[in-house]
Amino acid sequence: QTEQIQQLDSQHHLHPFTTHQTLRAASGPRVIVKGEGAYVFDSEGNRILDGMAGLWTTNIGYGSKELAQAAYDQILELPFYNTFFKTTHPPVVALARKLAELAPANLNQVFFGSSGSESNDTAIRLIRHYWVLKGEPKRRIIISRKNAYHGSTIAAGSMGGMSHVHQHSYPVYEGFRHVMDPYWYGESFDGETPEAFGLRAARAIEDEILRCGPENVAAFAGEPVQGAGGVKIAPDTYWPEVQRIVDKYGILLLADEVITGFGRLGTWFASEYYGIRPDLITFAKAATSGYVPLSGVLVGDNIADALMAENDDFNHGYTFSGHPVACAVALKNLEIMERDRLVPRVKETTGPALARMLARFKDHPLVGEVRSVGMMGAIELVADKKTRRRFSDLGRVGLICRDHFFRDGFIMRAVFDTMVCAPPLIWADTQFEEASAVIERALDQTLQDVKG
Ligand code: PLP
Repeated sequence: QTEQIQQLDSQHHLHPFTTHQTLRAASGPRVIVKGEGAYVFDSEGNRILDGMAGLWTTNIGYGSKELAQAAYDQILELPFYNTFFKTTHPPVVALARKLAELAPANLNQVFFGSSGSESNDTAIRLIRHYWVLKGEPKRRIIISRKNAYHGSTIAAGSMGGMSHVHQHSYPVYEGFRHVMDPYWYGESFDGETPEAFGLRAARAIEDEILRCGPENVAAFAGEPVQGAGGVKIAPDTYWPEVQRIVDKYGILLLADEVITGFGRLGTWFASEYYGIRPDLITFAKAATSGYVPLSGVLVGDNIADALMAENDDFNHGYTFSGHPVACAVALKNLEIMERDRLVPRVKETTGPALARMLARFKDHPLVGEVRSVGMMGAIELVADKKTRRRFSDLGRVGLICRDHFFRDGFIMRAVFDTMVCAPPLIWADTQFEEASAVIERALDQTLQDVKG
């Protein structure tokens, strides 16, 4: 049966971010058939510990009957209705209110979508429309960072800073500029402290604002922690300086919390963790713990007030904006997270446990740096620990290591040669111990493979 599924997959299914030739040449994709708690199961009956919460999504873990029941009840009650025709429905209103309660105080309105990419496209439109409403239509440029990931639609992909994503935009959409990311381990000068580096990385934004002319700049956008870029955690000096700069030039701040939203750092939103005051927060993924698609933009009072004062349509929206089933599942998911104290537990127990687990490997000969914040972390593999020199064929060793993890029943993602993890927030001691044992074996095996 596994082979049959693999064969059909190869005949009919195009995968995201995948080299199809390699996928076909190999034995085919592993077929995942079930999830339970912190584990998924493949079609051969193997149990796999999920160190990536699906794809930064499954914060409450797999197999929640409560979420299934919430979806079932809502499907029977009202499976779908739009929110275009001067219509609304109870789950969308309840969820918008709940999100406004959890978000920073100035964010009280929500525009819904289904994916993180859509939420960032919405934010880009809202930002540019805001400046038109304010009588400053020249403000169009959005500054973001190299290696940022904001999604795969053409606008969100252009706001992202990954060259391999830009490659398929033919060309990158106009009005986006990218500055250095706050990646101390890879980008700092010899002897530069993280604090000094954090200030330098933030001031690259100011330099870009001045190069563009402040009167042309609409916003700065960033992930509080770059996730898909390799869990790059900014030094403590970075975000306060970013806030100072956006305030000084009066530009909007967009925090892309598609990964960091809903507790990953031990606060509902990472903006709270870093003490920043965004004008917009985009979210998706863990809003429903990934059980059904739902995303959105939390919109600041300044932008919402401008929209309310406009006597015209905001011509933007998705059929599934505020989908009732997705909203009902999100509400139940947030209720479970609150009841089970999953967010404070990141601060109290799970986050420190992840940091301790990763610290065990910092002296391994392959490991350049381990880093983590809350329940997201990374192990960066390098060719030379002393000089931080990377492997010349970037990404090869990461894949070797990832395959060792996978064979041993554990998932971490390889971002080139950086092994990234973001476990479900329900991990307990058993899972940290299990992961630790696999990582230890996999690093040793990878070292042998690299040397051999
Ligand atoms: N923003 C960030 C920070 C992401 O990590 C992602 C996806 O991983 C997105 C946006 C895009 O979300 P989606 O894949 O749901 O479109």
